Amino acid sequence: MSHELDPLPYDYDALEPHISEQVLTWHHDTHHQGYVNGLNSAEETLAENREEGDYGSTASALGNVSHNGSGHYLHHLFWNNMSPNGGGEPAGALAARIQEDFGSYEGWKGEFEAAASAAGGWALLVYDPVSKQLRNLKVDKHDQGALWSAHPILALDVWEHSYYHDYGPARGEFIENFFEVVDWDDVADNYEHVVEKFE
Ligand code: FE
Repeated sequence: MSHELDPLPYDYDALEPHISEQVLTWHHDTHHQGYVNGLNSAEETLAENREEGDYGSTASALGNVSHNGSGHYLHHLFWNNMSPNGGGEPAGALAARIQEDFGSYEGWKGEFEAAASAAGGWALLVYDPVSKQLRNLKVDKHDQGALWSAHPILALDVWEHSYYHDYGPARGEFIENFFEVVDWDDVADNYEHVVEKFE
């Protein structure tokens, strides 16, 4: 069954002035759509190869599943992690867990921003169900620097297509503006869902 691109959960101009209508349009309609198409195409190749018993292009297609599938899922999370009514700080159980696992919200944020400043892809806040703790990850591309079994609950895309048109090389300004639109209610929902499953 093929994968489809969901519409954004808000209008293309809803996150202005932090993220422009132009960037969201390109980012969602062109870049994210490209990963959905790439995942579908790779899965078609895998199915054809299994039917034909010819696995010559299978290893390459498996690499494309990892790259495009991770790209698709992380963009989906990223769109839903933002809202025109976002900003502020986490509350409730998520805030308490950040305090417990990182020492303070400021400590978590400093570490997350360091990941976002240096990553060649994404900064992620993940829940690690093996050690039962929240962690930050610095991810290159969409899948390099992953921690197996971890569940991302907050994703920040720092590929150049995410900010360069709005901020040029000033990635730090983009990261600051991301915090003006973070939907902490959505992050808390993700956290509660995954904790319910694993704790
Ligand atoms: Fe992106």
